Amino acid sequence: MNKKNNRTAVADRLRFFEEIGADFLFKEPRVRTVSAGGKRSPAPSGPKAAASKPVRSAAESGLDLPRSGRTLEEIAAEVRKCRKCPLAAGRTLAVPGEGHPKAQILFVGEGPGHDEDVQGRPFVGRAGQLLTKIIAAMGFERSEVFIANIVKCRPPENRVPHREEVEACAPYLLEQITVLRPRVIVTLGKTAVDFFIPNIKAMSSVRGIFQSWHGLSVMPTFHPSYLVRNEGNRELKKMVWDDMQNVMAFLRGE
Ligand code: SF4
Repeated sequence: MNKKNNRTAVADRLRFFEEIGADFLFKEPRVRTVSAGGKRSPAPSGPKAAASKPVRSAAESGLDLPRSGRTLEEIAAEVRKCRKCPLAAGRTLAVPGEGHPKAQILFVGEGPGHDEDVQGRPFVGRAGQLLTKIIAAMGFERSEVFIANIVKCRPPENRVPHREEVEACAPYLLEQITVLRPRVIVTLGKTAVDFFIPNIKAMSSVRGIFQSWHGLSVMPTFHPSYLVRNEGNRELKKMVWDDMQNVMAFLRGE
């Protein structure tokens, strides 16, 4: 990135921080999730969480699903070849997900959109750029968290994936989780939270409230594409930011 582009990116990021009220970033040191050796480092420091507590503490939590014998790359390789459901027919590239193998946070969205389908990478379109800014505002690089979707291939016209498609694809996400064993799963939007916490009536009933899933803490929040569609709605961005502050407080053990 040249100097001019770099300045533009920094200015863009500062505008976003200002808009969501993340002004503490100018007072607290930036923190990292993982060291060069791949070990988890201390959780980020920052503001106190305002609201809900996770269901279990970090020390108590633990995934009660069997560990996978495969690596994330082995799972991704199978996803790229998968034709288990009708979504395979319309995809350009499958999008297995990407990120750090020891990520503390797993972000889970609904499914790939147009840009993701073309590039084979999750959250690279407009919504993805916003998610990247949110991750940066939390003090992380994208490469320090893991980002995945419920279904790994793009549904036509970006429709909500059908139940059979979700069921066919679910083993991949579940296996990724058993490999990652993240401390927190952040679900983005209704389809993602439905996967972990079925039968919720509306996002508003669970958004911002830690849920328990197989011993892991799940934080439901809005999908970034919802924020993009409601670009002028500062309140929505602040709600998501509140949720992310709760996640950060949990990682700090508060
Ligand atoms: S959506 Fe999932 S199950 Fe369906 S073809 Fe793609 S990878 Fe396979």
